[in-house]
Amino acid sequence: MSAIDAHFLPYLTSEQIADLPHREHGVVILPIASTEQHGPHLPVYTDTLILHEVLERTLAHLPADFPAWVLPTLAYGKSNEHAGFPGTLTLTSETLIRVLKDIGDSATHSGFRRLAILNTHGGNTEIVDFVIRDIRQQTGMLVFALHLYLRIALPSAGLTDAERTYGIHAGDVETSILLRCRPDLVRTERAPSSIPTQLQQMHYPPFMGPLTFAWLMRDLSATGVLGDATQATPEKGERFLNDAALQTADLLRAIVTFHFADDV
Ligand SMILES: [Zn+2]
Repeated sequence: MSAIDAHFLPYLTSEQIADLPHREHGVVILPIASTEQHGPHLPVYTDTLILHEVLERTLAHLPADFPAWVLPTLAYGKSNEHAGFPGTLTLTSETLIRVLKDIGDSATHSGFRRLAILNTHGGNTEIVDFVIRDIRQQTGMLVFALHLYLRIALPSAGLTDAERTYGIHAGDVETSILLRCRPDLVRTERAPSSIPTQLQQMHYPPFMGPLTFAWLMRDLSATGVLGDATQATPEKGERFLNDAALQTADLLRAIVTFHFADDV
């Protein structure tokens, strides 16, 4: 049995869920990713595949009786930045906000007190961050956001400077991870090197600096890729996965022992 299966909440009956020990400090994990274009060489399910691989490894690092229960994955996210590329299936902001709040409400009504949203898609980040405060305020639950490869295990070693700055989508990092965990789904011969010079010459680059602007992928890259996928190796992928799993396991330990300073 996989580690995810061993912690998968929907495999239990309603009665078993009502009788779960440690519901007060245990954590319900909602995995969220995307189904969206990842260039000519990676499947549209890339973010979701990466999420499952990290989660499987994370749970394998923790004791079998660790109080974490995994919900079904939300394999759709807010991906409108990839509109116009076939295979992108996006939720609107309004739908995603509503879905996250409804799942938060339902988890509360099932008696859970801690919720962690585990995210692998950059386009979900802002929404997840503000919705968790609404869930906290409206349900009283403790709610946490874990953004893999965006704030947790930010990849760096083995990447070029250009990749660290511009390689945000389907580049070296994601291709390396897929080469490690699902090489059967990677079309290596189609992997592009795609850091458009027009992007590097922008006076205000979109991923840093003082001026934020709302880009769509088609504004920046014709291939749908930002990054150099030709540099990817399974060895790098193994390192990125291992880093993410170790850090996520540490954070889950912190979540189940978390308390506010004035809690006694
Ligand atoms: Zn991705």
